Parts: sequence; C-alpha cells; structure tokens
Amino acid sequence: MTRRIPLNDLVRQSRLIHDELAACARRVIERGWYVLGSECVDFETEFAAYCGVAHCIGVANGTDAIELALRAAGIAEGDAVATVANAGFYASTAIHAIGAVPVYVDVTAETHSICVDSLKQALARQSVKAVIVTHLYGRLADVGAVVALCKPLGIPVLEDCAQAHGASRGGRKAGSFASAGCFSFYPTKNLGALGDGGAIVTNDARLSATLRRLRNGGQTDRYHHQEPGVNSRLDEMQAAILRERLARLGGWTARRRELATRYRRRLRGRSLDPVPEIDSGHVYHLFVVRVRRNDEGRQPGDAGRRALQAHLASRGIETLIHYPVPIPEQPAFAAAQPAGCPVALQVCHEILSLPLRPGMHDDDVDAIADAVNAFDS
Ligand SMILES: *Cc1c(COP(=O)(O)O)cnc(C)c1O
Repeated sequence: MTRRIPLNDLVRQSRLIHDELAACARRVIERGWYVLGSECVDFETEFAAYCGVAHCIGVANGTDAIELALRAAGIAEGDAVATVANAGFYASTAIHAIGAVPVYVDVTAETHSICVDSLKQALARQSVKAVIVTHLYGRLADVGAVVALCKPLGIPVLEDCAQAHGASRGGRKAGSFASAGCFSFYPTKNLGALGDGGAIVTNDARLSATLRRLRNGGQTDRYHHQEPGVNSRLDEMQAAILRERLARLGGWTARRRELATRYRRRLRGRSLDPVPEIDSGHVYHLFVVRVRRNDEGRQPGDAGRRALQAHLASRGIETLIHYPVPIPEQPAFAAAQPAGCPVALQVCHEILSLPLRPGMHDDDVDAIADAVNAFDS
C-alpha cells in the first residue's frame, strides 16, 4: 500500500496542540474584545523581540504588509519599485495597489533571489523609488548587499519575509536588515494563523508610528484622520493563536532543518539538485529542487519536471511549484514593461517543492528520496 504524503497537513499540525489553541479562542471569547486589543499588543512585542527589532505592527495579511510598508516609505502613484519576477504575485499586487510601477530585476541562478548586479543596472537605467527583496524558500537573499547599494542613494529597501520567519544570515534575522520587514501568517507559513494575518517589523520609530495609523484608517485618535489609510488589522483571535505558536516556532524550525539535512543526504541528484543552503540560518519553509532534465536541453521547457511530478504523484507524494509562472507573464500584470529576467524565467521552469513540514517522519523523507532517486537514475 502506498502511503499518501501531502505537502501540507494542517489538520494534523493543529491537532497536536488542539487544547492550547482552543484555550486561546476561549480566552479571547471570554474577554469580548476582538480587534486591536491586548493579544495583538502582546504578540507585536513578542514577535519584535523574536526578530531582534524595535517595533512590530500587526496587519491583516502579508500582501497588505508590503502595501502599507511601501506607502509608509513614501511610495506613491507612478513611482518605480524594483522586485523580482519569480517570487509570487504578492509584491506585484502591493505595488499595483498603490498605482506604483514594478521594475523586474533578475535573480541569480544559485540563490533564486535578487541579483545585485542586475539591480545596479536597473538603478542606472531609471529612477527607482524603492526595492523589495524577497527571501524565498526560508533562505535569506543577499539583502545586506542590496541595503549597502541603496542606502547611500536614499532608496528604501523592504524585505518580504513571508517565507522566512526566524531565518538568519550571518547571525542576523530576517526583517532586521532593511527599512522594514513584511511577514505573512497565512496558515501554511512557518508561523501560521488559523486564518489570515500579517505584520511589519522595523527599527524606525517614525515608520512604525506611520504604519500604526495607516493600518487603522489613518486615524491618529478615534475618528480623527491625518491621512487616508486602510483597514488592515490583525484580529485578537489570530494574535492569540500566533502567540501560542510563536513559542513553538524554534522547535518546528529545528525539525525542518533535520528533515532538510536528511533529504540532502538521501537524494542522489543526477539531473536534479536541491537548491543550496547558503547559510545555516535557512528555515526551510520549502524544500526546493531544480530539475535539469528539460526537453533535451531545449529551453524553456519543463517536460522533465512534469514527468517527475507525475512519477511522485503516482506514489502518493504531493508536490507543488513555487512559482510556475513568472509574474510579468501573468495576464493581470501584462502591462508591465518587458522583464529581461532570463534567470528568473529559467528557474520558474525547473523548480519543484517536495514535502517538508515539522510533523513529517524521517521515513516520509526516505520514501520521497527513494522515489525521486528511482526516477533520476
Ligand atoms: C505568502 C506570501 C506573501 C503574503 O501572503 P498573504 O497571503 O497576503 O498573507 C508574500 N510574499 C511571499 C513570498 C509569500 O510566500
């Protein structure tokens, strides 16, 4: 009998701490205060400390976090914002929401995240008002180099940390490098709510004060509005759940790393490589491999990857692609200028995410690695 191995298993994950989660819900219900109360304040304090920054502002989701951070950094209609083409639709959605214009910068083949040389060229070509650095898979991009390039030019840098809760590089945590770090607590993230949630972290007190206003309709005080804001708040129920789970995040991350190490030892990798770790601060939101067996070398094409995905599916192993379509090729963003991001495009055709979650057993990894190796021989 083949055992089914899903990519996510939220039922199992919540069942393990069901009583604790139920107690959180009960506490909030009994208090009868559901929006912008003490749970949110306490979570903000605890999460700021966890990230090693001074301020945290809870918001409704990760995409709003990026949009609000852009607004707080002074980005307005018509401003150009640099981002990458292979990081999902989130940053592009936030850029479009304020009428700004995305400028797509290429990634490096090793990191799949922003290429500093490519960014340098974009900055020389046109006036860019902000840069969004996305940390994909749980591994930090070279955000230090981006900040070093942009700071002297007065260009704010934002980190998209939605896949990188607690990740570090050179001992420094995600969200602490740039002007602000944007987090999502979507249920499948390393730190997930039981619904939507998000946060922005920053060391900048002024930015923090602006963000607190913006998330709550621009109010300085009840019914007094300094500027038009939005309604984007982290509710008390989710904040309580997140506090409970934040206390466990260290243990879950350690388990993710163990499973990743096991994958690396087991995968033989002839035409397929796990993406490199780069820094031991990788938190393995995803375990991504590059499948090189691509249409006998003709590019772009993903026949090899599709065959591997089908092979694994026939053995009950679920996989996904994060993400299959480069953003400038999405109909919603088709008006964007031509991207010129050949590496990002190639990456989109080669990557595949294998299951990795803290609740997985060692022999789940062994079964997946054996199935991959059987295909890849
Ligand atoms: C999940 C995610 C987000 C934000 O997601 P929301 O669903 O808006 O909370 C942003 N960026 C990346 C890279 C993500 O993976």
